[in-house]
Amino acid sequence: MAKITLSNLRHSYYPNPKTADDFALKQIDLDWQDGGAYALLGPSGCGKSTLLNIISGLLIPSEGKVLFDNKDVTNLPPDQRNIAQVFQFPVIYDTMTVYDNLAFPLRNRGVNEAKIGERVLEIAGMLEVTDMLQTRASGLSPDNKQKISMGRALVRDDVNVVMFDEPLTVIDPHLKWKLRSKLKELHQRVRATMIYVTHDQTEALTFADQVVVMQMGEIVQIGTPVELFERPNHTFVGHFIGSPGMNVLPCEIREGRAFFNGVDVPLEGEIRGKDLANTEIGIRPEFISLGPKGIEAKVRKVSDIGRHSIVEVDVAGSKIAVVVEDEPPNLGDTVFLIFQQDQTRLYSEGWLATRNGGAS
Ligand code: ADP
Ligand code: MG
Repeated sequence: MAKITLSNLRHSYYPNPKTADDFALKQIDLDWQDGGAYALLGPSGCGKSTLLNIISGLLIPSEGKVLFDNKDVTNLPPDQRNIAQVFQFPVIYDTMTVYDNLAFPLRNRGVNEAKIGERVLEIAGMLEVTDMLQTRASGLSPDNKQKISMGRALVRDDVNVVMFDEPLTVIDPHLKWKLRSKLKELHQRVRATMIYVTHDQTEALTFADQVVVMQMGEIVQIGTPVELFERPNHTFVGHFIGSPGMNVLPCEIREGRAFFNGVDVPLEGEIRGKDLANTEIGIRPEFISLGPKGIEAKVRKVSDIGRHSIVEVDVAGSKIAVVVEDEPPNLGDTVFLIFQQDQTRLYSEGWLATRNGGAS
């Protein structure tokens, strides 16, 4: 296992990149601690696989360094990096049995058969595939094949990092949640450094202790699932995480105060920075309540989603989602919104621009 450092990393697939848009990765600096469970989360095309392939050595970055335990591995080929990677689609040997597939990475390294047997049984047990060990891999369902791919990545205990690139793509929706929690459990038992790449917030937030959110080749925030939910550093993170995502409302700043549709909205704390532009208020649907007084709004849509309702209201053309725990209002009703002050943030050009009340 190893600590992984990415330093001043940039990557372009073009031979002579000119503008920032020519870079699939614009500037990446990261430190991943030994034994951690990390997720890389972002929409398709934001550069997740590019980053993963640079860590595994399938790609050499245009600029910058990759370090394993402070040792520069930037130019080492994959087979000298001691890593295991699981891809979107299963990579197994169809003609071999499940047992031989799992044993393969160990046999490759000359581990003795007794030790191999022990380790294969252990991993098979964790993945619940023990009863398939003598089956030929070609006969397996896609999700079982993917489980075996994961098993092959986990069977060695001497790898620097185990990386998963959208591994649940081929898995049936009803099995996804099962494998998702299985992976978390596996991390706790194996304690290897693991990096899990996905565009699915639920997968990232269930698996990782720390999530790196990427957008267009850049990191917009690194944090625990709770930090990402509670204090999005960028409106992109606010939108991307949560369902529905954070409400982002245009506002005007006058004398250090934020006005939404002419109403003075108290913020969590002092506004920081002077060159504010494209200012917006960010507040999650969970932190708005309906009261006898507040910002006047019209109810446009009510969705009952079990434990609570999502009420969509309109204020002068801005749509706002509100989570309502009790009896929801009716369509067309006039309601009054109360924003929980310590959860009301200001964003400027997309970036968080308020200080946290207590912490400033
Ligand atoms: P993600 O895994 O987040 O979906 P990728 O890392 O695959 O994103 O892609 C990032 C960007 O780099 C995208 O704009 C993609 O089109 C581009 N890209 C990926 N692979 C190549 C390649 N082999 N050649 C040229 N451009 C590529
Ligand atoms: Mg990808």
